[in-house]
Amino acid sequence: ALIITDECINCDVCEPECPNEAITPGDEIYEIDPAKCTECIGHYDTPQCVEVCPVDCIPKDPDHVENEEQLMDKYHKLTG
Ligand code: SF4
Repeated sequence: ALIITDECINCDVCEPECPNEAITPGDEIYEIDPAKCTECIGHYDTPQCVEVCPVDCIPKDPDHVENEEQLMDKYHKLTG
C-alpha cells in the first residue's frame, strides 16, 4: 500500500483519481486505507494519486510492504 505523509496540503486532487476509493480526507490530512490500496495494480500501470499529487507526498507505506502478486490478489478480492 501507499501512504500519504504529513507534507500533504489537502489539495484534494488525489481522492477522485483512486480507482479503489481508498483515499479519504482524514482529520488533519488525506489518508489511504491500506486494506483498499492496490498501488493501482489491476487498474493502471502507475499509482494515479502519485501521478497527480503536486507535492510528491505519497511513498510506499513501509508498514504495508506488498509485492505485485499480493497487490493483484487484493485487487481480485476488492473487485469480487
Ligand atoms: Fe494531499 Fe497530495 Fe492528495 Fe493533494 S494530492 S490531497 S497534497 S496527498
